[in-house]
Amino acid sequence: MYDFNAIEANRCLVCKKAKCQLHCPISTPIPEVIKLYQSGAVCEAGAMLFKNNPLSVICSMVCVHEEQCKGHCVLGVKGEPISFYKIEEEVSMKFLNERTLLMGERNLERIAIIGGGPAGITIAFIMARMGYDVTLFEAHNKIGGVLRYGIPEYRLSNQVVDLIEEKLIEVGVKIRPNTLIGPVITLDRLFEDGYKAAFIGTGVWNPKTLIIKGETLGNVHYAIDYLKSPEVYRLGSHVAVIGAGNVALDAARSAIRNGAEKVTIVYRKGFEDMPATQQEIREALEDGIGFELYQYPVEIKEEGVVIKAVKRLKDSNQFEEITGSEKLFKADTTIIAISQSPRNNIVANTSELSTNQLGLIVTDESGRTTKEGTFASGDVVTGARTVVEAIAHAKVVATTMDAYCRSLR
Ligand SMILES: Cc1cc2nc3c(=O)[nH]c(=O)nc-3n(C[C@H](O)[C@H](O)[C@H](O)COP(=O)(O)OP(=O)(O)OC[C@H]3O[C@@H](n4cnc5c(N)ncnc54)[C@H](O)[C@@H]3O)c2cc1C
Repeated sequence: MYDFNAIEANRCLVCKKAKCQLHCPISTPIPEVIKLYQSGAVCEAGAMLFKNNPLSVICSMVCVHEEQCKGHCVLGVKGEPISFYKIEEEVSMKFLNERTLLMGERNLERIAIIGGGPAGITIAFIMARMGYDVTLFEAHNKIGGVLRYGIPEYRLSNQVVDLIEEKLIEVGVKIRPNTLIGPVITLDRLFEDGYKAAFIGTGVWNPKTLIIKGETLGNVHYAIDYLKSPEVYRLGSHVAVIGAGNVALDAARSAIRNGAEKVTIVYRKGFEDMPATQQEIREALEDGIGFELYQYPVEIKEEGVVIKAVKRLKDSNQFEEITGSEKLFKADTTIIAISQSPRNNIVANTSELSTNQLGLIVTDESGRTTKEGTFASGDVVTGARTVVEAIAHAKVVATTMDAYCRSLR
């Protein structure tokens, strides 16, 4: 039988100074995992991956492998690089499906995790396995954050996020769904109830706006809202998506999968300037998404978007508007995807928690906020970034929180 992963594992040179590992933001021990895999110790390989990154299965599916492990494989210099992420997916899935995670003794302090995205889930796993009494508060009805309510199902199945949730329960994490911390349960009330430390990993869920006329019309939506449940929207046949990052491309590709006949990305620069990765752009083109480049929106109407052309100034990254170039780009629906910023539910209902001018929570490098006993990481600290970055930093913050709790004993 053709076994792609076994062939990939055997092709791997198991480099001593592995560049794939070096360019992985969470330093996945790739050569060691490959060695275990080659010897048939698949669950042990999975345990090693899980210990380094409790969401390795998710990273195997959503990381930008072409810029990280795969992009730096030495075999890629002259030939085909190793697709380690496929091995990672197989190994991690087997581990999660077949191994029962040991529950910590739960004899350490009570701690609160606010937000069940990659950052909060990572901290919850680590702290629960250390023996902390962990409660995770999640505003949505299920945990996952962007993994469940942002990244579309065709890229990351919710079944995988469900499996992660099962594992959290297995290690003793208590989950309070549909619980928005801030307006009713404040951060201060958590401390009154005996929580010794709190972690904030609430992400960025407010869409940034274009601040142009027409944004409130009935045929205009923000991508971050649309992606929560694309199936409930009636977009019509032609959709314009404004923006060219991963959220814009996910919205465009979801619209095509949910019945739109024609979907066009409207972007004020060229392909080479897009924040989306090459892989995402390639896949969007394969899905038949159109691109209207060097155009920016000046107004949204019931009939579509009024766009104006720009041109790049010679040898520069500056752009100049082309006078008189305004035209109506016809679309039944316009989706706006120009990044997100944090909501202020927690910050507005507590004291001592500092934010910067973008509304992001201010922390030191180890994740300490300006409020005693309160820690934060993930997008709510860095602004919109990536899953693996949220996980990697959450690991650091778990160590900080543990040290803080020890200092109270
Ligand atoms: C559409 C989209 C596609 C993306 N695709 C990729 C990708 O392919 N690869 C990649 O690496 N990155 C991707 N990203 C970025 C990545 O998902 C984020 O960087 C990552 O999820 C950040 O993790 P987080 O835990 O900080 O926040 P989030 O994932 O945003 O999770 C925060 C959680 O906190 C909850 N919450 C918020 N406020 C409260 C409150 N007051 N009380 C209780 N709970 C609260 C939210 O409901 C949410 O569940 C994508 C982002 C989007 C929006």
